[in-house]
Order: sequence, then C-alpha cells, then structure tokens
Amino acid sequence: MRQNPHFIGADIGASKIRVASGDKKGIFKKLVEDTDKKHGPQGIPLQIIGMIHKLNDTPDAIGIGSIGPLNLRTGMITNTPNYPFENIPIKKPLESEFGVKVKIINDCSAAVVGERTFGAGKNSQNIFYVTLSTGLGGGAIVDDHLLLGKDGNAVEIGHFTLDPNSKIICGCGSPGHWEAFCGGNNIPNFARRWIKNVNMYGSLLNNLMEGDPKNLTPKMLFEAASQGDIIALEIVEEIGKLNTLGFANIVNAYDPEIITVGGSIALNNPDLVLSPIKQNITRYLINRKPEILLTPLGENVVLYGSLAIAMDDRYVN
Ligand SMILES: [Zn+2]
Repeated sequence: MRQNPHFIGADIGASKIRVASGDKKGIFKKLVEDTDKKHGPQGIPLQIIGMIHKLNDTPDAIGIGSIGPLNLRTGMITNTPNYPFENIPIKKPLESEFGVKVKIINDCSAAVVGERTFGAGKNSQNIFYVTLSTGLGGGAIVDDHLLLGKDGNAVEIGHFTLDPNSKIICGCGSPGHWEAFCGGNNIPNFARRWIKNVNMYGSLLNNLMEGDPKNLTPKMLFEAASQGDIIALEIVEEIGKLNTLGFANIVNAYDPEIITVGGSIALNNPDLVLSPIKQNITRYLINRKPEILLTPLGENVVLYGSLAIAMDDRYVN
C-alpha cells in the first residue's frame, strides 16, 4: 500500500447511492446520485464505478455498506425490496475494475463500524446502531467484535415481535413486528388505524392531510405533533411506547454501552422520537441503561462505516 493510502466508501440505498473518498481523517470528497433502476442488475455496479472515476481517485481498498439481503460469500445483493432486479453483483465488478480488495456488509453493520471509528463510539467496545427510517435496522459491535451471522443478517431488530396478537402485518408477512408499527413506510397505516374513530375536525393534522387520511405521511404527523396537535401527539406517544420496547429488547439482548440512532425519522424529529425512549426504557430493562443519542455522523453514517471497513481489517476481512 502507498505511504498515504486512499480509500473509497460507498453507501448503496434503494433511492440514493453515496460514494466518498477519504482516509483516517475522514471524508475528502463525496458524490450522491439517484440509484440506477434502468440498466438491470449491472446498473448499480456500473454506476459506482462511474462515480469513483468522477471522484478521480485511485483507491487502495473499497468498502461498501448496502441494502440487503446480501450474500457475503458471493458479494451480491440477492433480492431486495423496493428494487426491480435480483442478484446484483457488487464485489466482482469493482474488484476487476480497480484491482483492489472490495468488502461489502449490510448498511447498518457498516454504520456501527462508522460510529466506532469516526463517531460517538470511539471509546466504546460495545456499541449498537439503530436506523429509524423507511424500515428499521440495526448493527452491533459486542466486545469489539462486529456481529454478522451466517448470512450477514445477525441483527434484524425490525422484526422483533412486539405484539403477537396485532392485526398489523409486517412487510415480511408476520404480525406485530416492530417495523410494522414504527418503520417510516408503515407509520401512515398505523396512524390511520388510530384516527379511524377519532373526530379529527379542526385539528392541524387533519388540515395537513387535507381531510383525507390517504394523504397522511410521517412528516405531517411529526410536523403536527411538534406544533402541539393533540391527536398527532397521541399517535407519536404510541409510537414512542413501541420504540421503547424495541430499544429495551436491544439493551437486554446486546448490553451496549452506547446506542446511536440515525435514519430520517430520527434525524428529522430527534426530540419527539428519542425523548420517550430515554424517559421510559428503564422499567423494561434487566441490563444497565446505556447512553442513547442521535448519531453525530448524520446521514453520512453508513458512508463513514464503509470507509472504515475499507481501511481496517479488524471488523470485516
Ligand atoms: Zn417483519
């Protein structure tokens, strides 16, 4: 490797791809593009190759945090929701283009490594990262070891069952999973059930959705709650109770010193989302309460993690 090695990190999302160059000091340059959905399974790897060339960098290694599910052995994204193609090769096309080592892991696993290396977990050997976004996901470092599992899906916290009797079915087909209530894709459905028998007349939430529950979005719900709308606050409180259970399960299972939280739902509404968890979690815990905070790395947390796995073999080989 060169005296001052350069690395590339990439964050593959269903809607955006982020690519950055950097080293131990952090990110030098970053590019963000809409994820290619026109050119078949080869579209994403070709797009990343193009973005790395645009950054005009010659990398010594490449790290990738990606939507899953993944096959870590073949370095492919196998069959991902919200994307029109299956079996997307990532590792091989990048290796043959640049002739360097390419490592790929699930995006939340990358994020927790980013937190350990660049963020709030620099001094912790037990860190958990949670994304509250369109879906819910997690990454765990326990005793300074990244948990991956047989297929790289060791920490599917969004599918913790919170209510086995619930009529609300998760995208995976099971009833009462955490993500089915609190994932950004599912919050509108959860809220619509809540307001079905409520007189909404004159409420801010009703005005924002122009009287039609079909228009309801998470953004409207949190906007109305932040302005004191009683109905919106009640729904946000229910979401807070369910998030508290999910976080308590994490603490009881993984015993982290610190939990950092990212994803658009949390990053856009930090107080409404995190305060109820911090206030109420203790009653569900057997383990000592960890520090819970918003990730200081913001929307770049996966990108930082991808850079970190590129430059360090400690967590991913
Ligand atoms: Zn599920």
